[in-house]
Amino acid sequence: MAAASFTVPLQFTSHSTYNSKLSVFCKPNNSCLASSSAGSRVLNVNKWLHLERNSRSLRIIRAKAAQVAEEAPPSSSQKEMEVVNVDLGDRSYPIYIGSALLDRPELLQRHIKGQKVLIVTNTTVGPLYLERVVAAVTHGSKTLVESVILPDGEKYKDMGTLMKVFDKAIETRMDRRCTFIALGGGVIGDMCGFAAAAFLRGVNFIQIPTTLMSQVDSSVGGKTGINHPLGKNMIGAFYQPQCVLIDTDTLHTLPDRELASGIAEVVKYGLIRDAKFFEWQEKNMNAILARDPNSLAYAIKRSCENKAEVVALDEKEGGLRATLNLGHTFGHAIENGIGYGKWLHGEAVAAGMVMAADTSYRLGWIDDMLPKRILQILNQANLPITPPEEMTVEKFKNIMAVDKKVADGLLRLILLKGPLGSCVFTGDYDQKAVDDTLHAFCQS
Ligand code: NAD
Repeated sequence: MAAASFTVPLQFTSHSTYNSKLSVFCKPNNSCLASSSAGSRVLNVNKWLHLERNSRSLRIIRAKAAQVAEEAPPSSSQKEMEVVNVDLGDRSYPIYIGSALLDRPELLQRHIKGQKVLIVTNTTVGPLYLERVVAAVTHGSKTLVESVILPDGEKYKDMGTLMKVFDKAIETRMDRRCTFIALGGGVIGDMCGFAAAAFLRGVNFIQIPTTLMSQVDSSVGGKTGINHPLGKNMIGAFYQPQCVLIDTDTLHTLPDRELASGIAEVVKYGLIRDAKFFEWQEKNMNAILARDPNSLAYAIKRSCENKAEVVALDEKEGGLRATLNLGHTFGHAIENGIGYGKWLHGEAVAAGMVMAADTSYRLGWIDDMLPKRILQILNQANLPITPPEEMTVEKFKNIMAVDKKVADGLLRLILLKGPLGSCVFTGDYDQKAVDDTLHAFCQS
């Protein structure tokens, strides 16, 4: 029997998610003996686990092992493409990750079903990469390609700009078998995905994310949408792409601040469910910041694997998927409180993760080393570790009170609990700890 260590998010029918460290002893046929505080039992690591945990009268509805494997990034001589699969039954799709993938027409073409393609991009990314994507789509094929170039910026992630996509699609007679391709960061990906979900009640859709944020987070998992003047991402749909194509070379043109913003989400995966990945980041942060291709590719791949595993377990955010929002409740309050666009999303999430870790520590759920390691790694990545001065306790409280994770008047938070790589999504915490965090981080 081979021994392996798994971190298993155990999701209960109550409002909480509980992470338990299991010791798992696997036989070659994948049948494993798992033991934890919940007891020992035989399980198959590739299948859902259905366990009873009678002692606390909580029924565990599902859990899946995220294997924490000893993995090292490939050596610099290896330039293989990585493929991460998002396992969603008949809506499963691959994420291709590698260098120069925009120059491999076969990757895109195998996911284009009809003869018409509409590429949605913006005024920054279009001049950099549109020509290459058009060349890849049309290489040796009769596919007709149209493009629509939108203005750049979060403030254009709105209904008016979305209509430009529909205008172009209708003017150029895109049909039911056409494919929409999103070429850009998270704003373009979210908007194009939503347009694809709604146009003719749903057409094919491909993501070509070009920011680190979109490569490690927004392009994977099928959340699409636009903002409403009264709230961010308020109008949207779950709509999965046919594939995600990540050409890591596109990061060469990304500004440093945008790169750091994406790193915040990479750090998040380590904290919530992948201790080994966090430890790898601690050792390799300088290489990531220096845009070392192998380190970036590994960080992207491991992030996508983590996100894909969570999405496969909880596509529509019944509970587990909410854990991907570590630091986001405090972070969204910052973005909203100072006005969208002043801080990048990842910057606000970074400060938010520090605050969530502080609350977790005050609750006695983590030891004092973890907040220090979080400060250290975010500092190294040039990310903020405190909220901006204009964020007062009152501002935080007012905005957090209308967070999407409020249910029956109770704000549920993602907090760290247990060893590195474990978290909970819960409304069952002492409010005083949150208040103390707010007073510690705000000047008034
Ligand atoms: P973004 O799309 O605004 O891109 C940031 C900036 O970088 C833009 O100016 C963009 O034009 C530019 N850019 C993009 N690629 C470039 C490249 N290769 N070289 C040079 N410049 C480039 O922002 P983002 O951080 O990618 O995404 C943020 C958006 O993603 C937000 O709207 C957020 O709500 C959304 N989001 C969605 C999800 C999801 O699950 N759907 C998850 C996280 C974030």
